[in-house]
Amino acid sequence: MFDWSAELHELRHHSLEWLHEARAEAVREERRWHLRRLAITRILDERHAIDDATATADGVSVREVRESVETARMLDELPQVAAAAAEGHLSATQLASVVHLADAATDAEWAARAPQCAPADLARMVRARRTPTVEESRRRWESRELRFWWDARTGMCTGRFALPDLAGAAFESAIDQICGRLRPEPGRPWAPRPQRAADALIALVERAQGHADGPAAGIVPKVVVQVPPTGPAEVVGPGVLLADETVEQLRANASIEAVLCDEHGAVITVGRAHTALPAKTTRVVRARDGHCRWPGCGEGHGLQVHHMVPRSWGGTDAFDNLVSVCARHHRLLVPHGELVLTGNPNRPDGLSLERAAHRPDHRSSAARAP
Ligand SMILES: [Zn+2]
Repeated sequence: MFDWSAELHELRHHSLEWLHEARAEAVREERRWHLRRLAITRILDERHAIDDATATADGVSVREVRESVETARMLDELPQVAAAAAEGHLSATQLASVVHLADAATDAEWAARAPQCAPADLARMVRARRTPTVEESRRRWESRELRFWWDARTGMCTGRFALPDLAGAAFESAIDQICGRLRPEPGRPWAPRPQRAADALIALVERAQGHADGPAAGIVPKVVVQVPPTGPAEVVGPGVLLADETVEQLRANASIEAVLCDEHGAVITVGRAHTALPAKTTRVVRARDGHCRWPGCGEGHGLQVHHMVPRSWGGTDAFDNLVSVCARHHRLLVPHGELVLTGNPNRPDGLSLERAAHRPDHRSSAARAP
């Protein structure tokens, strides 16, 4: 039987240099065996002899087995990456990501590049290869929820919630800011984070009750969105990827800051992702409308300026293409939503709602125009 303490006893006789070398060799061997296991998995897969029972036998998750089958299949096209991994240059985590980044043409390039990349960066590059679709973005929105109930025994109101991308980031930012203001009395320790977050929520409720001077007074959530030249924009912090249609509507939202960056993530400019409307135009549109122009909505707070024909569909910044809408109705309108406001916004009763008949093949380039 393996004797842990005897193993340690033997190792204690060696120099630091020897130990470093022995450890490096163990890592290399581990990686070589990992490739051997993937190769065997590949052949078993060819013979349809890998199933969920394999996970049980290995003591790993079903997902882990499926991932290794996928990695093994992709290595067929990537001999150089496979060689780099077998020589011990790539960890299993790096390998599982790089197979999604490399193809036959870039095999050699990635075989050299991936060993220098942190596993987290590789995973991020894999995620960023696909921009979420407007349907995914709508599904996120549809999945929003806040449930709460009373626990009669403890006398506590308790619950759970889910907020989509930008709304979630705005919520996090507001709670963080209020938490920062809730400093303890001098000489007292900070309350635990979950308690301060609850205090922040209470402060928001107090503000809704009209307590204008509480810790939540004047909080404007700050959400930063990074917009690369190609690929999806990302909410900085949680790293949530956004649909192009969502990015296009960012320009109307003052609490979101878009940061244009190059393909390596270096910041080029801080500001709007698009030509922001001149402040004067925004003022004129808001003064004309006074409230949300969604038929039947009288909301007068937090108005955003909406392009009835989106810029990426060829719409202009002319007054007859601009209307004020509330944030709730803005996201139901094209390009993010499925509804179109049509008609003449210069007439108080000039607008009606229609379902978008077609979606032009608008590409993200329009949404990113400087
Ligand atoms: Zn409205």
